[in-house]
Formats: sequence, C-alpha cells, structure tokens
Amino acid sequence: MIEKINKLKVERNAVILAHNYQPPEIQTIADFTGDSLALSVRASKTDADIIVFCGVLFMAETAAVLSPKKTVLLPDKNAGCQMADMITAEQLRKLKNEKPDALVVTYVNSSAEVKAESDYCCTSANAVEIVRSLPEDKKIIFVPDQHLGRFASEQTQRHLILWPGYCASHIVITDDDIKNAKKKYPNAVVMAHPECSEPVKELSDEVLSTSQMLRFSKDSPAKEFVVATEVGMIHPLSVQRPDAVFIPASEKAVCSNMKKITLEKLLFSLQDLQYRIEIPQDIAAKAQKALDRMVEVLPSK
Ligand code: SF4
Repeated sequence: MIEKINKLKVERNAVILAHNYQPPEIQTIADFTGDSLALSVRASKTDADIIVFCGVLFMAETAAVLSPKKTVLLPDKNAGCQMADMITAEQLRKLKNEKPDALVVTYVNSSAEVKAESDYCCTSANAVEIVRSLPEDKKIIFVPDQHLGRFASEQTQRHLILWPGYCASHIVITDDDIKNAKKKYPNAVVMAHPECSEPVKELSDEVLSTSQMLRFSKDSPAKEFVVATEVGMIHPLSVQRPDAVFIPASEKAVCSNMKKITLEKLLFSLQDLQYRIEIPQDIAAKAQKALDRMVEVLPSK
C-alpha cells in the first residue's frame, strides 16, 4: 500500500501533509509533518497540484484558503474537529453584534466561515503575542477555545471575552494525571499544551504548542518528558530525540477524528481524488485576511 501511495503521489504531483497527532504510519509516509498552519503554509509554497491533508477538516480548509489554485483533499470526509464545531459563523456574528467595539481573535482550530468573521487568527504558539499586540483600549473576543483564551488572558493581563469551547482530547487530562506522573518520573520535564485545563497547566513546567514542544525538547538536556497533549505527539517527539523517553500524561488523550485517517483511506484519496475541500471565494478571501493580519503582526512566525 505504501508503494502504491508513493507511486500515485508522484503521478498526481501531490504533496502529503500529516499533523503531529496523526497515526505514526501516516506521519512516516508524509512529505511534511507539523502543526496545521505551518503545514498549510509549507504546502502553499510547493508546486504540487494536489495537497492531501492527513488531519481534520478545518486544517484542510486552511490549506484550501492558502492554496486556492491547488486541489485539497481530506482522506476521510467525517474527520471533523469537535472544538471547531463548537462555534458557528452565525453564533460569532451574534456575539459581535452584542460587542460591536470588540476585535475578534480566532484560534486556527475553527471553520473557514468562522475565520472569515474574524479580525485576526492565531495559533496556540502565538495567541499570547497576538493578544498582546492589540490596542489596550480595545475589547477582545477570543474564540473558540476557552483554555487557550484563558492562557492568553493570564499571560497578557488582558480581559478577554471567551467562548466556552474546548478540546475533549485535552481536557480529559487531569491534574491527578500530572501529579501521578511527577511522582513516577521525578526527573521528567512536564510539557502541557495550552488547550489543557488550567490546573494541568499550573502543575506543568512548560506550556507549549506542538511545534514549541518539538523545539523545546530538541534543545533540552532532560532525558524524560511527560507530554500533556494528544498521544500522537509522542511519535514525532520520539523520532526527534531517540535518546529520550516521552510519556503521555494520559493514554485517554486521543482525538478520534485524527485517527480516522488510515493508509487505505490515503490511497483511496489519491486514487479517486476524494474528498475535495472547496471554500467559496468570498469566505476564503475574508478568512485569508484574518490569517494575513496574524502574519503581519508576527512577520517571523
Ligand atoms: S485534538 Fe482537539 S482541537 Fe485537535 S482536532 Fe482533535 S478535537 Fe480538534
């Protein structure tokens, strides 16, 4: 199957992207692995005709926004994201009407329609800097992840109007999981994703996005790490640092949508050019603006 995928990939002039939470065999066959925005940006700079995004719907949508001339495929049309589904464009419009003076900062884990209603996008790596860059006298609506929003609010000392969204795969990690891991691995560095609950983040040594976890552990002298994020992250961390041990904070932190992508579905995707992700032009243009504003604030990100 791997041979067939690689052959078809060349014939179709396709590039395969795999998010850090994908199953190991998908990450291994991919051309690029990483976080969703970095992958979409990277793919947009290639001369591939087709992008196969092994991830979830909002990620493929972001790739389609950034690469309007390429065909973007998601190997399983049902691979959604519970967090992204927790807010609709209509709900955001209603909130904007209630707070007409507020700027809207939207986490990239959101639909293209929600991004299109936003002033700025942000990632888990740059949410703090984006919020910090906004004028002091402006109210800020932050959607959809309340935990990332609360983290950005604490770090910047800015009041944010939060949406009650969350990632079920991250909030399943409890403070007891971290306490137990610390007892069992007293020398380990605990890294938590900002989507984790506040008690988990407070007990952790570092609060880091997935790309930041990779950078941090690469340069760290530590040999043991407890990782409070989706369990798929253990794979790229272990590949990068085979001399270190990476322990998931909770085996329950599994995103079932991320695991819907299989080698078989990836093959079918390339064979039958399914499932095409197309964003209406007006929505794509507005979503792109929110993404561009993020890059303008953080030109080096
Ligand atoms: S891990 Fe959470 S935020 Fe990421 S795709 Fe899965 S449900 Fe969505």
